[in-house]
Amino acid sequence: MSFDYDDQNIFAKILRGEIPNQTVLETEYTLAFRDINPQAPVHVLVIPKGAYVTYDHFAAEADDVEILDFTRVVGKLCADLGVSTGRGDGGHRLITNAGRDGVQEVPHMHVHILGGRGLGRMLTAG
Ligand code: AMP
Repeated sequence: MSFDYDDQNIFAKILRGEIPNQTVLETEYTLAFRDINPQAPVHVLVIPKGAYVTYDHFAAEADDVEILDFTRVVGKLCADLGVSTGRGDGGHRLITNAGRDGVQEVPHMHVHILGGRGLGRMLTAG
């Protein structure tokens, strides 16, 4: 399996500092920032700094340290943003769209953290 990464995508430009972002958390391997068009009171995007197109690309080719860091950042953000499932917080939804059928707009791997209100059923038709 091979994955083609387009380094002109908007998140690559954010990582290079070519366009601004509202950073929430940054580590050596991972960046989290506010979605520009939030769909819920909490809507944060988490991206690896490495050049991965989709979650399956990341899972297949990222180093263990990148995957560990990414996973820990997601967990920390859920707590920091008040959408954990601990401490009586209301919970959240993680979404990672991939490819054509996943209707992925930005071809740099990202996980959406959504929460802060009831999010309804997982999928709607169409
Ligand atoms: P998707 O690729 O469909 O999973 O979603 C891409 C997400 O990136 C959308 O929710 C957009 O609102 C968001 N987005 C696009 N450009 C920016 C940007 N410059 N800063 C923050 N979020 C963005």
